[in-house]
This record gives sequence, C-alpha cells and structure tokens, in this order.
Amino acid sequence: MFTDFTIKRSAKRRTVGISIYPDLRVVVSAPFRYPEEKLQAFVREKSSWIEEKLKEFAKYGPAQPKRTYQSGDRISILGKTYVLKVFEGPLNQAHLTENEVLIEATSTKRTKEAFARLLHAQAAQHLKGRIIHFANQLRVQPKSLTIKDYKSRWGTCKSTGDIVLNWRILLSSEAIVDYVVVHELSHLIEFNHSRAFWRVVGSAFPDYKRARKVLRESSRRGDLDL
Ligand SMILES: [Zn+2]
Repeated sequence: MFTDFTIKRSAKRRTVGISIYPDLRVVVSAPFRYPEEKLQAFVREKSSWIEEKLKEFAKYGPAQPKRTYQSGDRISILGKTYVLKVFEGPLNQAHLTENEVLIEATSTKRTKEAFARLLHAQAAQHLKGRIIHFANQLRVQPKSLTIKDYKSRWGTCKSTGDIVLNWRILLSSEAIVDYVVVHELSHLIEFNHSRAFWRVVGSAFPDYKRARKVLRESSRRGDLDL
C-alpha cells in the first residue's frame, strides 16, 4: 500500500486532488478543514491508480538532481542513480562502478570534463547497441552513427543516412534513449514529421507521445545540461 505523500491544505480549495510529479512526489491537495480520516481514506481508495502512475514515471527515470560535481552528488545515467565520489589527483579521469561515479581530478572544471568523457564513452557503447536493435526492427540501414555533443538537440538524421546522436541523452532513462533512437531511424523511412512518420515511430516505440513530453520537460528543467 502506498503511504508516502505530502498534504497541502488551502482555504481556496473545495475538493480533494492528487498530483503526481515526475520526481515521484505525491501531493494531496485538500480544503482547509477537510477531515484527516476522510483524506486518508481517499488516498487509500486511489492507491492503485497512484501506484500505476508512479510506475509510469519511474520507467522514464527520476528527474535529474542538480549537479555540483562534489562528492555526494546523485547522478542518474540511463535512469539508474549513481553517487559521485571525487578524489583530488592529477589523473582527470572518471569511471563507473556498480553504484558510483568515481572521478579523480584537479578541479571542479576537470571533474566536469572527465564526467563528460565518461558519458561520451558510455553513450558510444549503449547507443550503438540500440541503433542495431531498432534498425533491425524497422528494417533500415543507417550509413553511419556519430556520437557528439549538441547543445540543444538530441539527434539528427541526414538525408545521406548518417545519424548523429547527442551523448547527453544518457542523462535520461533507457526508454527516452530508445525513443530518440527510434525517432532518428524512422527518418530513414519518412524524412519529415508527417503523420506517416509518427506511425513509423509508433510501430517501434508505441509510447512515443509520453516520451516526447518527458523529454521536453526534462530539457526545460535542464536535466540534460552538464
Ligand atoms: Zn525528427
């Protein structure tokens, strides 16, 4: 049973409402004098709906906590949360363990750069695998895959069949990455954003509408900025 939520009471409210946020917060809004037992009963009644929504959000990954590049930062990569540990030292190198991002660097600037290189390397590996997987499914043959750093786009597909993907996308979840991969590969069939294009996208990634929305929101929040 689901029990972890915040109650927000307001004099202006007439009804009880439940909001669920992408960072998995659950907020119950209620009129000022609404009885506590009735409120608890309402949440209990809605608990399976809440659980379901939380599961949906969890699939698309937790919202990215703000990074300071100091030890203790929590960083979400492909939807999995790692704890950052920074060591002072001349290597300027990062690596990933089961639960941690370990970085040895001489300054915060170098820490950030080492982290960017780590993400780039991880992206090269992960994205190549997903491109192969979905290219088979869509029966397309991209000419090349390049991983690079774009400031404000997640990928492009050129008319030549060359696909470029932004390694920052690894700061979102596996589902979002799959959506971006499918989006770019679908341009090999429909070189536009027509209805026919979205049909192709939907054939390989049915939940694309939600993925687009989540991606837009997390970009706006700056989750994918370094
Ligand atoms: Zn497109």
